[in-house]
Amino acid sequence: MRTLVEIVRQAGVTDPRLLDAVRATPRERFVPPEFAARAELDAPIPIGHDQPTSQPSLVARMIDALRLSDTDEVLEIGTGCGYMTALLARLARRVYSVERHADLAELAMANLASSGLTDVEIVVGDGSLGLPAHAPFDAIIVSATASEVPAPLVEQLKDGGRLVMPIHERAADMVTLFAKRHGRLQEQRLLLPACFVPLVRSPPDPYSNGGRTGPCG
Ligand code: SAH
Repeated sequence: MRTLVEIVRQAGVTDPRLLDAVRATPRERFVPPEFAARAELDAPIPIGHDQPTSQPSLVARMIDALRLSDTDEVLEIGTGCGYMTALLARLARRVYSVERHADLAELAMANLASSGLTDVEIVVGDGSLGLPAHAPFDAIIVSATASEVPAPLVEQLKDGGRLVMPIHERAADMVTLFAKRHGRLQEQRLLLPACFVPLVRSPPDPYSNGGRTGPCG
């Protein structure tokens, strides 16, 4: 069986720091125990609340696009069980992560602590509002989909900063890399089409696809 590092490398990731981070982060620590046997497969795994943790090759390609350095402060939206958070924490100076489900946030914190990753701040709340108290960020990564990047996230990204988010268009979620230049977000490139859960806003945004359900949960 191929290891996750081999899978991620074959998906096009060449950054040695990111490959080292994947190697140093056993995914079985970040999934429910009943799915531990599937942790080394390149597949999504249910983590509760009808939410999945994404497949590792997708997680790695999204992170790769951010081109993180160890001086970067990163905002993650949608902590889930903390697997992506762990990889980010190994690459950046500081990671702030927002999760709307308190029990998932607690689980992620415990998972991160069990991997010795304590320099991470997890906040329970609506990530579409960002985290103004800690802004601005060098990079922002969003693990849930909406029809556009929420305005607070654009505001809280540094000029020159990078943002990756799945943008919902018709039947697919287009995982897109943006950069902020002169105060505005510019689309850099499409990474790949994928399937994400909706970014749930509170109160619900009548123009978003927050009520959407689909085959990916
Ligand atoms: N990055 C995680 C993805 C988990 S799934 C991983 O790869 O493991 C997406 C997560 O986004 C879910 O945990 C869901 O609860 C969370 N989420 C959805 N809308 C949110 C919002 N508005 N604010 C914060 N978290 C949100």
